[in-house]
Amino acid sequence: MSHWLPVLVNTPAHAALGPVLTYQSEQPLPAGTLVRVPLGSRETLGVVWDNTGTEATGEFDPSKVRAIAGALEGIAPLSAQWQQLLTFTASYYQRSAGEVALAALPPQLRELSPEQMARRLKRKKPVEGATGAVLAVPVLTPEQATVIGQIDSHPGPFLLFGATGSGKTEVYLHCVHKLLAAAPDAQALIMVPEINLTPQLEERFKARFAPLYGEEAVVSLHSGMTNPQRLKSWLAAHGGAARIVLGTRMAVFASLPKLRLIVVDEEHDPSYKSSEGARYSARDLAIYRGKLEGAQVILGSATPSLESWHHSRPAGEGGRYLRLHMPSRVGESSKLPLVRRVDMNHQPRKAVFSLPLIDAIKERVARGEQVMVFLNRRGYAPVLACDDCGWKSECPHCSAFRVFHKIDRTLRCHHCGFTERVPRACPDCGNVDIAPIGRGTEQLEEHLAELLVDVKRAGSVTPQNPRGEHLRIARIDADTTRLKGELESQLAAVHAGDVDVLVGTQMIAKGHDFRRITLVAAVNPDNALFSSDFRAPERLFSLLMQAAGRAGRDASLGAQSEVWIQTFQPTHPLYAALKKHDYPAFAEQQLKEREQAAMPPFSAQALVRADAKTQEAAQAFLNAARTFAQTEMLEWEGWAPLLDQITLYPAVPMTIQRVANVERAQMLIESPSRAALQQFLNGWQSVLHATRGQPECKGLIRWAIDVDPLAI
Ligand code: ADP
Ligand code: ZN
Ligand code: ZN
Repeated sequence: MSHWLPVLVNTPAHAALGPVLTYQSEQPLPAGTLVRVPLGSRETLGVVWDNTGTEATGEFDPSKVRAIAGALEGIAPLSAQWQQLLTFTASYYQRSAGEVALAALPPQLRELSPEQMARRLKRKKPVEGATGAVLAVPVLTPEQATVIGQIDSHPGPFLLFGATGSGKTEVYLHCVHKLLAAAPDAQALIMVPEINLTPQLEERFKARFAPLYGEEAVVSLHSGMTNPQRLKSWLAAHGGAARIVLGTRMAVFASLPKLRLIVVDEEHDPSYKSSEGARYSARDLAIYRGKLEGAQVILGSATPSLESWHHSRPAGEGGRYLRLHMPSRVGESSKLPLVRRVDMNHQPRKAVFSLPLIDAIKERVARGEQVMVFLNRRGYAPVLACDDCGWKSECPHCSAFRVFHKIDRTLRCHHCGFTERVPRACPDCGNVDIAPIGRGTEQLEEHLAELLVDVKRAGSVTPQNPRGEHLRIARIDADTTRLKGELESQLAAVHAGDVDVLVGTQMIAKGHDFRRITLVAAVNPDNALFSSDFRAPERLFSLLMQAAGRAGRDASLGAQSEVWIQTFQPTHPLYAALKKHDYPAFAEQQLKEREQAAMPPFSAQALVRADAKTQEAAQAFLNAARTFAQTEMLEWEGWAPLLDQITLYPAVPMTIQRVANVERAQMLIESPSRAALQQFLNGWQSVLHATRGQPECKGLIRWAIDVDPLAI
């Protein structure tokens, strides 16, 4: 007796096959079972799908139905909630369910043979003892106690708005502790933006919970892991042995049958939004998943996203999250740092460092304290130019300049990677005096070395600094941390006190707990004030607050810590709010502007991006689909009132219009109603597919929809 099984496989949404295919099986298999199935000439991984509510399989010819190759033995079916999460993700972000679901599973489930998999599952786990020895768990501060009381007595979701160092992590630890102690099988998911940048968090969770529940109880899940490691963590979570999963955005899809708590730390961080495949927001999905699974959700940040801030306004005003507040840093003297603005209009023209900043840096390092200087641009200079003829170091493949890297004398394109040695003379006129314009971190490092050459270092002799006198300047950015392990070793050097001045990009502003840094300087942060991206001020504010959070983490030094902002706009309201550490004031002002302009969170947006061989083709494709929506779709029964709520803007070239010889264009779609936008996109997908074949779109390479885009 054979059974028809709907099986979800990874076929692109626009292929002729639907994502749910029908197979035949000798045994009935429950939905969620992982199976191997033949697809064309290969064998692939699929998930038995409950196709009520997903795209119907449609009619099929029973004589052509193939049999499944086998089920993955020993792995319990994925839960109905997991399937629903994936179905929702696919539909909300306009991708195929097969693509999204299969990408959410560890790659080795696809790659291992049945025998290999059986061996992997049988591998005996070492029984690593829970020693039961609880650590010194700190006594809660009054603010922490209040917040935990609120979490205990309210279903959430919560937005934990707490200053850097206010003890948010301790709140998460406490909530997890309570949960695991109360329910013997409950699981918690802790999400962080980038695990490399927050090794301390992982350590703190391991230190707190491994003694209680064994080493197996805390697992990580992120893309930096090898495939065998990922499979191991995934199986531990799926089987219930892992009680706590720590991971990056991909972890939102981890199979956790007894999930009861989700924490999204640094919830404002843009890296929670995926920028390829399904462009999902793990933060937003965490909220959805919490509701689905009956799990509490805590979003935490010192500078929440304006979306979350808006959602956590008082319930009487329509807020959906409960906002919890921890304004003070833990510890007696660990006050928030003093923010100083340096008016660069009164400094020598072209000065990289203002005179008072140089003095302040010298003073700090001479006292044995650490200084952090950051600039969001790597390389030596963003452009190399000829003064005589106007030649500039443009990339031949992109509409962007190649960046000058002095260290190996190259011009590198940061978009396509194209690299050449710096020419001896101007390629156009032969002038030998080609010069860098602007500056990057490499130049700052060089400059600081010159400025501080006479400064002696205070403090102890270390192996790196045997005579105990030379200052050490270190740089951390994508260039100095390319190789595996380099970031870790550089960070370790900073922690060990072997570095006096740390120069870097935003990489160093996030997360790290550098205890001896007492001065943080932002050299040139003004650009974001004039960006065409309406989210740029929000990102700048949070970056500067984060950077400020690096200063004065050590209570014994905290009283004198400072943040310096070099700016040509010293009276700008953003910096004024920053000076007062007043995120709420900044958020109110930004939200007012957004409301007036009907921008998110007061409207819903989607972006369609098209890549093509010519800019004309990319735009023609988008504009043809737009025209269709504005004419033909209006005639579809019942669509006129819906289209009334949708604004389709004309196609425009992207800011960096050409990358690696591909022309890029985009089109913004806006609606006051999220539901209307969703409904429109669902219907319009087929239009995009059909438009692709039109003659004026010849040369179109690909297109993709980004729902709730973060960068426009
Ligand atoms: P956040 O996550 O808000 O930046 P953390 O939880 O990392 O803050 O706390 C900052 C510092 O204060 C850490 O070193 C932490 O160990 C310490 N800390 C947190 N809560 C307490 C407490 N209740 N008593 C003593 N120290 C605490
Ligand atoms: Zn020239
Ligand atoms: Zn390029």
